[in-house]
Amino acid sequence: MSLRSAEHYLSSLADGRRLYYRGERVDDLLAVPDLRVAAEHAAIDYRVADDPTHRDLAVVKDPDSGEEYSAYYRVPRTPEDLLERSRLIELCTSLGGTMVTLIKEIGSDALFALQRVLEGEELARAESFLERCRHEDLAVAVAQTDVKGDRSRPPHLQDDRDLYVRVVEERADGIVVRGAKCHTSVAANADELIVLPTRAMGAEDADHAVAFAVPVATEGLSLYISSFSGGERDPWDFPLSSRHRMLETLTVFDDVFVPWDRVFLCRRPELAGPVALTFVEYHRFTAVSYKLPLLDALVGAAAVIADMNGVARAGHIREKLTQLVIFAETVRGLTELAAQRARVDERGIAYPDPMTTNLAKYTFATRYHQALELVQDCAGGLLVTGPGAEDWASDEVRPVLEKYYGAAAPASDRLRVMNLISDLTVRDFGGYHAVLAVHAEGSIEAEKMQILRSYDAEPRVALARRLAGLD
Ligand SMILES: Cc1cc2nc3c(=O)[nH]c(=O)nc-3n(C[C@H](O)[C@H](O)[C@H](O)COP(=O)(O)OP(=O)(O)OC[C@H]3O[C@@H](n4cnc5c(N)ncnc54)[C@H](O)[C@@H]3O)c2cc1C
Repeated sequence: MSLRSAEHYLSSLADGRRLYYRGERVDDLLAVPDLRVAAEHAAIDYRVADDPTHRDLAVVKDPDSGEEYSAYYRVPRTPEDLLERSRLIELCTSLGGTMVTLIKEIGSDALFALQRVLEGEELARAESFLERCRHEDLAVAVAQTDVKGDRSRPPHLQDDRDLYVRVVEERADGIVVRGAKCHTSVAANADELIVLPTRAMGAEDADHAVAFAVPVATEGLSLYISSFSGGERDPWDFPLSSRHRMLETLTVFDDVFVPWDRVFLCRRPELAGPVALTFVEYHRFTAVSYKLPLLDALVGAAAVIADMNGVARAGHIREKLTQLVIFAETVRGLTELAAQRARVDERGIAYPDPMTTNLAKYTFATRYHQALELVQDCAGGLLVTGPGAEDWASDEVRPVLEKYYGAAAPASDRLRVMNLISDLTVRDFGGYHAVLAVHAEGSIEAEKMQILRSYDAEPRVALARRLAGLD
């Protein structure tokens, strides 16, 4: 098969999966407008492969078989492969109104990590699963983050051991798992779910050192979809979030059976840390790639609204725009550098330079809120005091708005840009982006730890000792 249409992807979601939304069981995700928005958004990952303008980036041809498949599932072998992957992620996010599409990005991040860390039979299973994802062009979510309970305790010291997903039974034909993961993006609208350990583990945590893949429609698997950013939205008020949304779930495994050919790790604490970390390194590179359209949108929106307000030439506005440009281009530069500095392991698989990737992600996450302040400053208070779509549609109210809300640009244009900035930085979609910036792909402290861990201090220490006349 290899390349599926967006319609094929969407129709595959009606498979009896167990979903809950707003307190109720949902039988057909596509029948709920709020949820359908998310599936249509994710379908961009399929539409790009169908679009002649983007095919070169989105589709790869196997030189031996001639089979065409999604470029997301190409195992990177060179820095150029990683750069192209980054551009594809950037493209899809840009088409997705600054929201990452993720249904092929995150799954392939996990699969690349498994190819790098596993050996023997476990590696063979991961390879054959990657082959399936590629051949059947599957949408794949990754549940790594456990609900975790008391953060100061390891899994085996939690009052309830189900707070980290664990193996409760090993059988001749497979394993049985129980527990819950949370914040699982796109699980509700994916075909498959890959489960990875969330952290390094010791021998006492062996039951929790488990990695596997299951179809989303699996007996015992229930997904509780977050209602954040839900509800009907008029595109005039919400130009982005009315069309683009990502769904997160509380992902509960109630004695789920997983056959052995889908089990990548079972009670292997020594591999929990390496798998978790290797996934995160690919996934942070995906993250900084998908942040770029958001940063470009912030710079562009600030410039346009400053112009429309008639303040584009003011010194402090130019300073604010300069700060935004510095921020956006620093993250872009570090993202490209992470690919250029890529290493290739002994299996011939390329991975982005860990230190540079974490520098990019850290820079993004720690400056993001400051960038929002700059954009909001350029825009003015109309971001929260402006009219709504009903006002604009009203024959009686609209002339008043047109008369009083025009500035260096007509009110019709200025209010649209205000609504864009409001959606992007002020309302719940903006809040979602802000929390995504800090926490998704690991929190800021995790990035700092990785920066320090991957920094080669030895030559710098030697330099300091030499300069001090010690050596
Ligand atoms: C929008 C969104 C989408 C996401 N998508 C996915 C996804 O698709 N798949 C997935 O697996 N995960 C996903 N995540 C999860 C993300 O990786 C986590 O949010 C992140 O790892 C932080 O975990 P947490 O939310 O449980 O916060 P916590 O870990 O509770 O962090 C809160 C604070 O506590 C600190 N902290 C935590 N533990 C300790 C400790 N032991 N000692 C000292 N300080 C500590 C942290 O540094 C942080 O400051 C997503 C998150 C978001 C926000």
